[in-house]
Amino acid sequence: MIYFVGAGPGAPDLITLRGRELLGRADQIIYAGSLVNPALLAYAKEGCAIYNSASMTLEEVMERFAAAEDKGWMTVRLHTGDPSLYGAIREQMERLDERGFDYQVVPGVSSFCGAAAALKAEYTLPGLSQTLIITRAAGRTEVPEKEDLALLASHGSSLAIFLSAALMGELREKLLAGGYGADTPAAIVYKATWPDERVIRGTVGDLCRMREESGITKTALVLVGAFLAGSGARSRLYDGAFTHEFRQGREAP
Ligand code: SAH
Repeated sequence: MIYFVGAGPGAPDLITLRGRELLGRADQIIYAGSLVNPALLAYAKEGCAIYNSASMTLEEVMERFAAAEDKGWMTVRLHTGDPSLYGAIREQMERLDERGFDYQVVPGVSSFCGAAAALKAEYTLPGLSQTLIITRAAGRTEVPEKEDLALLASHGSSLAIFLSAALMGELREKLLAGGYGADTPAAIVYKATWPDERVIRGTVGDLCRMREESGITKTALVLVGAFLAGSGARSRLYDGAFTHEFRQGREAP
């Protein structure tokens, strides 16, 4: 059996209980070493075979899966954050399907959640934005034309931009072209939940300066939107005059 497990954003105690339990039972762990915190490997049992996939090709990862299946071993394939976002798991699962190997996926805390925690922010503020767009800039991997950052920016929603910290000039240009004002709040969150986490706050107009002064070019999220500054309308959920399934609304005294 093979388990794709979300490692969480960095802090080793932000893996799920299920993920940790599987790490403790695994005969083989293949972890995405460029981003997964190696401290998680301390949960492995003695004698567990451990491979860092950072220097491996897809075919080499498949060979490791197959070798373990031959021996009746259980493998954990450990991916950063939640595996469903930029995890390159689909291509692995397709090949496992072809070979008839069984697998399951265990979700994880994505880095965009870790970054919101670092910022003590809420992406969805009533009256400001009820939408979070998760995207990336086109770098060496293309992005579909309809998802060009300038088009996405035209919604003015909250934005979490992955894999793009080295492309700040382009981000700034597209965000401005799309309609965010230069004074729209923005933040760069580096290694959210790791011991060396850093949070740089500023505005869309400032993004290049924020990047230059911080020296951050990778393992960072760029977050954009009015949610970073603040307070929208108060929620209906906890509004005393609002009735919902669990509470009868009352007139204000
Ligand atoms: N599946 C992962 C994303 C993998 S893509 C997830 O759910 O978070 C790798 C990108 O994720 C990095 O380039 C960076 O943009 C972001 N990232 C991953 N971990 C991060 C962290 N701890 N802090 C900030 N950004 C992070």
